[in-house]
This record gives sequence, C-alpha cells and structure tokens, in this order.
Amino acid sequence: MNSIYRKSFFDMPENIIYLDGNSLGPLLKGITEESERVINKEWGEKLIKGWNESHWMDQPVRVGNKLARILKAEEGSIILGETLSLKLYQALGSALDLNNERKVILTDSGNFPSDLYIAKGLIDTLNRNLELRIVKPEEVESSINEDVAVVMLTQVDYRTGRIHDLELITKKSHASGAVMLWDLAHSAGALPVNLEKSNCDFAVGCTYKYLNGGPGAPGFIYVRPDLIKKCSPAIKGWLGHKAPFAFEREFRKAETIDVMRVGTPSVIQMSILEKALDIWNNIEMSDLREKTIELSEIFICEMEKKCPQIKLASPRNSELRGSQVSFFFDDGYAVIQALIDEGVIGDFRAPNIMRFGITPLYINEDDILNAVTCLERILRQDLWKKDKFIKKKAVT
Ligand SMILES: *Cc1c(COP(=O)(O)O)cnc(C)c1O
Repeated sequence: MNSIYRKSFFDMPENIIYLDGNSLGPLLKGITEESERVINKEWGEKLIKGWNESHWMDQPVRVGNKLARILKAEEGSIILGETLSLKLYQALGSALDLNNERKVILTDSGNFPSDLYIAKGLIDTLNRNLELRIVKPEEVESSINEDVAVVMLTQVDYRTGRIHDLELITKKSHASGAVMLWDLAHSAGALPVNLEKSNCDFAVGCTYKYLNGGPGAPGFIYVRPDLIKKCSPAIKGWLGHKAPFAFEREFRKAETIDVMRVGTPSVIQMSILEKALDIWNNIEMSDLREKTIELSEIFICEMEKKCPQIKLASPRNSELRGSQVSFFFDDGYAVIQALIDEGVIGDFRAPNIMRFGITPLYINEDDILNAVTCLERILRQDLWKKDKFIKKKAVT
C-alpha cells in the first residue's frame, strides 16, 4: 500500500490533533490563493462576463464530473449546488414521483434529523397520504416490502459510524420495486463508493466533511443516467429549465443532470471545492480505507486499555464501521470541551456520544496515541469538571 498520509498538503494549526474532519474538513494549501484568484481575476476583473469567460455556469457539472471519479459514478450523473438538505428534497421528490402508486418512505432511526425533517416536510407538502416509516437500522432489510415507494438511508450513521451495505440494500429495494436513495454525507471521501456498480437510483451528499470543501461548500446529487430524463425535480428553479435564458413562462425540464439545479451557483465556494478535490487525484480509496481501519483499531484498543470507563458506541467489527469512532459517556460534552482545550478536537452528539473522525490524510499513529493519552489524563485528573467545559455552546 502506498502511503496516503498527506498532512503537508494541508494548512493546519501546529499542535492540533484534528479528529473532526467528519464534520468539517481542514483547509488545503492553495485554497487561499485560488479563492483570491477567483475573487480578483474572475469576479473583480471580468464582472458579469465571468459567467461565460470563466465558465461559472458549467462549473456545477464540471465539479460533478470530478466528484464522479471519486464516487465511481458515470460522467454527467452528478451536479453540485445548494446544500445537502435541499438536494435530498430534490432527490426524494423525484423518487416518489417515479413510484407514485406506493405510499411509504422507509428509513431508519439512526438517520440524521435533517433527512427525517425534509422527508416529513415533503410528505406534508405533497399531501397524498404518504408515510415516513422509521425502523431500527438492523431492521431495514426485513422491512423492505411492496408498500415501500422509496428506501431513503444514510449509508454511514452520523453518530455511531455503523455502515449499511450499499449494494445489498439497493438490490433488495429494487427486487421489491422500491426506488433507492442514499445519503453519502459520511461516505464521500471516507470510504470506497462505487455508485455505478451499486445501481442505486439517487444519491446525495455534502462536500464540507471528508471532501474538505470548506464551510458552506455545496451539496451534490447523483441521478442514475437512465433516470435523468424521467425524473421531475420537486423544486423547479430556472437553472433546471431546458433553456434558462429563453426565460419562458412554463417550466420545461432539462434533459441532463442540470435538471436538478435550482438557482445561481455559489461560484467562489464551488471554486474552492473544485481545487480541493485535486487531492484525490492520486488516492486509491481502498488504501485510504485500509489505513482508516488500521488507525481506528489502534484507537479502540488504546481506549479500551486506558479509558475503560468509556464504552464504544461504534460497531466493534471494522467492516461495519465507517470513518468515525464514537463512545458513550454521559458527561461526554464536557470531556470533549476539555479535550479541545488541550488541542485534541473531536465533537459531541446528543445525548451522550463523543465522536472522533479518523481521517488518515492528516492523522497518523502518533496522533491517535497522543489523543488517547490526553483523554486518559483528562479523566484521571477530572479536568473536564470545570464550569467552562460543562456549559454548552451553540454548536457542539
Ligand atoms: C451533515 C449531514 C447533513 C447536513 O445537511 P446540510 O444541508 O449540508 O446542512 C444532512 N444529512 C446527513 C446524514 C449529514 O451527515
């Protein structure tokens, strides 16, 4: 295996062990210059001509094709824009439309709240007796039946890191006539994904987590190529129109992945992402995965040895675990704050989960060992029992 450790590609503070790339990836070198170039040379100098001369209008598809290489998707099947929540709405709306005789959206209780709210909101809007059926993650497969219109799942559980089998569940869904929609928020850039091979219908995700696109980076949507012409977006924006600059009165949908566009793309943020994706050019996702598992195993073993009072919340079997390792601890919030104070950055997810992202592009064995040593000391000396650590901040 080639080394995939690329800390020197990042512009990160010294003396920080960053175990939160699952929530916000760090700044890559070259991004500052690229955003300056886009602002000064494209926006500043070209003004509105930038849409044509700097190819801003095609950028969401161009970046989509770049991402397609990472997710092994077909050319022209992914487009960037807006946020993951919005792209999920677009995908779910189309998925329901493709299977409009059936009434059930099947999902699991580990799904991210936004995904559940979005589904519930769309059900209310459509007002045609649709049902959001929420089952336990381990009951998903046995709950797929002929009532189900859409199976909507997040592949990697945001809290525990538990993985659903993308190909197997897609196959089961199709066998019972359901449309398959995956949320890849904690998969894209974290583990090998082969969208083409999975044969799933729709997928969505975000680019500020493992793909290091920065805060506010656009969401993405994948539509299997044979469905692009058949599907109808729930939100019909002018850029999803076949000829946006004809400014027609009626919506005529684009026959390409552009159909999933809504409005004006965030060019500066998209340019940052376009540049940030370069780091994946020479990375084999299987190598990344191998290293993630190796580091996660070290982390779990060290935690079991040195901090036995903290219990593993993630699956113990590495094959069933994504790129984060989580632990239960009732005072986890304060412990995480104390860790951050010492330069070890993880995060907390209510009610009692301490979560650590293991991202081998910039985390190595020493970081893992040092993080556990730090945590052991915080617990042994009760350093977390300070008011400043116990009081909750707005963003956890
Ligand atoms: C991070 C995450 C989101 C966030 O959605 P945004 O629209 O980007 O804020 C949604 N769903 C899942 C599963 C996530 O992990």
